[in-house]
Parts: sequence; structure tokens; C-alpha cells
Amino acid sequence: AGRLAGKRCFVTAAGQGIGRASAIAMAAEGGRVVATDRDAAKLAGLEAHGIEVRALDVLDDAAVAAAIAAAGPLDVLFNCAGFVHQNTVETCTDAEWDFAFALNVRSMWQTIRAALPGMAGRGGGAIVNMASACSSVKGAPNRFLYGTTKAAVIGLTKSVATEYVTQGIRCNCLCPGTVDTPSLGERIAANAAAAGGLEQARAAFVARQAMGRLATAEEMAALVVYLAAPESTFVTGQAIVIDGGWTL
Ligand code: NAD
Repeated sequence: AGRLAGKRCFVTAAGQGIGRASAIAMAAEGGRVVATDRDAAKLAGLEAHGIEVRALDVLDDAAVAAAIAAAGPLDVLFNCAGFVHQNTVETCTDAEWDFAFALNVRSMWQTIRAALPGMAGRGGGAIVNMASACSSVKGAPNRFLYGTTKAAVIGLTKSVATEYVTQGIRCNCLCPGTVDTPSLGERIAANAAAAGGLEQARAAFVARQAMGRLATAEEMAALVVYLAAPESTFVTGQAIVIDGGWTL
């Protein structure tokens, strides 16, 4: 405990899954955490961990700027919001394209832009972005749009790291394999008919992981805390793969 003692941390999409586990892990390490999500009801229970909660749709630029201003100068920003479309280059629609780039990429530009002056004023900070192993790292079937946006997150991460390296601001991203979260359950359900049942659809996701199991959100949170904490102070611009051997 105490690896983030006194650090002001801001997390998007903290209502469930990796964002929620990360907010709790940051608070357990002494961070002063503001946890946000579009769906305020999903933030229930986080106050018990000493976390401040706030409804925030990261697609709303003015709301993003207001929330980050209200949180005060940040030491840590974790951009977790993202959506996984299941499509191919031929089935992807214009609306899906625009939505995915707005949520998975553009929203990170907005939060980072809003947080940078405060971080610079404090002499540094750590930005952690959610990418995926499915990105420029590797392709995955039926993940055309998702992989394209997550590759953009890696590019965005490296650009921010480059621009701010002399100001003490680090920017890294994590590239998970398959993590057992509520939205994965929805993707499994969506694939059940084609796979011949829910069990089969889940087994197909598990089979991608060389370790023969899915990750937990807490395993992702451990990497988020590392990238946020002073112990990673020499690490910047990196896309860190955490995938149970998917890319072996
Ligand atoms: P999830 O998909 O189960 O939950 C997403 C959360 O985001 C929800 O609480 C939802 O209310 C919130 N949200 C959705 N739109 C929002 C918006 N516009 N503004 C604010 N909040 C919004 O969580 P997860 O599976 O842990 O995924 C989180 C991130 O991790 C995503 O960026 C996802 O792409 C990435 N990721 C997930 C996996 C996986 O296997 N689950 C793997 C690699 C990367």
C-alpha cells in the first residue's frame, strides 16, 4: 500500500470491468481517486473505497473539461473508456466507424488535453491509456474496427509521450488479451448462436489465451497501478502487452 499515496487519480469508464478494478486498486495504494462513468448507477459502491464518483460521458467534450477541472490538477489519468465492435472491413458501418473513433480514440485526446496543463503545473504526471493486444500488435478475426482504433491509441500514446517527456509527464498504454468483464459476457452472448451455444462461444475466447484462461480485471489493474506509480518513472511511450500468451 501507499505506492500512489496522495496522488490525484482520474479514471474514465470506472463503473465496471478494468476501470472499476483499477480505481479500487489505486485507492488501495493511497491514491485520491475520482472515478467516472457514463452510467452513474454503475459507480455505486466505490465511495466505500474512499473514491469520489462522478457521472461523465467521455463523448461530451465540455463535460470532460469540466470534470477534469473540478478534479483539480491531476497526477494520474487512466483513460479506460472504449467499445468493442465485432465486425469486418466489409460489415463495418459508417456509424460504427464514427462512434468507435469518437469513443476509443478522440475521447482520449480530450481528456489528455484537459489534464496536461495541471500535470505540467505539478511538475509531471502519468497518463495510462487502454489499448489492446488486438491493435498494431496483432490482428483478430471480426475485430476490424476495434483493432484499427486500438492501433490509433498506441500512436496517440507515443505522440503524447514524445511531446511531454521533458516535462516529467509519462504516457503509456496497456494491451490486454481477453479479460473477464461484463462486456465480454455480452460479446460471448452475441457469438453464441454462431458458435453452437454459450459454452462453445466462451470456450473460443478462452482458447485464444495460451494460458488456457481469461484474465481478471484485477490482473489488469496491477499493471495500471504500476504505470501510474513512481516505480515506473523511467517508462514512457510504451505499449505493454498483458495477454496470457495470446501473442506468443
Ligand atoms: P466494459 O466494457 O465491461 O465496461 C465499459 C464501461 O464503460 C461501462 O461501465 C460503461 O458504462 C462505460 N462507458 C461506455 N461508454 C462510455 C462513455 N461514452 N463515457 C464514459 N463511460 C462509458 O469494461 P472492460 O471490458 O473492462 O473494458 C474497458 C476497456 O478495456 C475498453 O477500452 C476495452 O476496449 C478495453 N479492453 C477490454 C478487454 C476485454 O477483454 N474485456 C481486452 C482489451 C481491452
